Amino acid sequence: MSKKKLGLGAKILIGLVAGIIVGAIFWLAMGAEAAGDFTAKWIKPFGDIFVNLLKFIVVPLVLLSIMDGVISMGDISKVGKIGWKTVAYFLVTTAIACIIGLIVANLFKGAFPVLQLAEDAAYEAKTANLMDTLVNIFPSNAIAPLANASMLQIIVIALFFGCGILVAGDKGKPFGNFISSFNEVTQKVMGFILALSPYGVFALMIWVVAAQGPKILQSLALVLLAAYIGYIIHVVLVYSLSVKAFAKMSPLTFFKKVFPAAAFAFASTSSVATLPIAKECADDMGVESEISSFVLPLGATVNMDGTAIYQCVAAIFLAKCVGLDLTLTQMVVIVITATLASIGTAGTSGAGMIMLAMVLEAVGVPTTFIGIIYGVDRLFDMGRTALNVIGDVSCSVCVHQWESGDLKPAKK
Ligand code: ASP
Repeated sequence: MSKKKLGLGAKILIGLVAGIIVGAIFWLAMGAEAAGDFTAKWIKPFGDIFVNLLKFIVVPLVLLSIMDGVISMGDISKVGKIGWKTVAYFLVTTAIACIIGLIVANLFKGAFPVLQLAEDAAYEAKTANLMDTLVNIFPSNAIAPLANASMLQIIVIALFFGCGILVAGDKGKPFGNFISSFNEVTQKVMGFILALSPYGVFALMIWVVAAQGPKILQSLALVLLAAYIGYIIHVVLVYSLSVKAFAKMSPLTFFKKVFPAAAFAFASTSSVATLPIAKECADDMGVESEISSFVLPLGATVNMDGTAIYQCVAAIFLAKCVGLDLTLTQMVVIVITATLASIGTAGTSGAGMIMLAMVLEAVGVPTTFIGIIYGVDRLFDMGRTALNVIGDVSCSVCVHQWESGDLKPAKK
């Protein structure tokens, strides 16, 4: 591992721990409300600057890196081969995540409360309908998805144009070269932004800890615990096994190398914003660039194992809160809808909670009750985003092994 990369990972860790300590000091010294207001006003904005910069770079990054990934595969049949393996890995791991989430939530169910709830729950969820989600993947305009950062649509555009360049043969080459060069420049710009990540993590963690201190945790400790147990089981079981079995990589090495991306995802709660760091980690593990450039942006947009676990746990919890006892068939419906909902979830902060509405609707839990966990969503989001990103990187190492054989970690 190069000095520079080690440096970044270590710095992110220091930023994370220092942020937690400083946030706790604020919380103890000022109390949750005042500390929350103060840090939201004066400290969080520095984290926001950093997250803004990441969001700014991420649209060109996803568009160009997927196109470049497709172009660098050289022929269209290879795109298909890698594409289906990637999608199969994503779907299978997400379905397993749902099942783990359901099992854990059911074990905890007895301890979940049945609440007396007022009709006017504070948060009105935006409903996300299954068929709308499907139709919305396909853009009706070539520019709007880029301006609105609609990631699924951007992926569709990138895949179409990437394949178009390949099929156009010699005539497509100049455009392909332009895209590769543009992609290279974008990666360099991203490098500048990445150097700021430890400071961004530091500022964000101070705010989270100061604003959401232990008090708010108490009321939802159980459901949070259930979600985090699900996250941990999934990481230990699914990712350890898959990198060991498919990528012939020691799980310990994998977790060590994926740590900077996981830590950043934890603090930023955005898979898409974490994309640049995830790419660095995959490079460091020796994943070929043409594979990571294809798998990671796709994964940051559609592969959300953590979100799937969260949606299952939250659905069981909220069903219990409103006094519904779910049947086995309804559990199966949860697995299917949570898998689809997690695919439709944007890789941005809090998006998984919006898509939870789709899962709740499918089993008849009123979506307004999302309000119950709204206040602490960020705490769920931190873990689920870390998991989402680890899942993407694990997929890239497995696909690398399936396609190109042993990983050769970069020596820089
Ligand atoms: N924040 C998550 C992510 O970016 C999505 C979610 O809210 O579940 O991966």
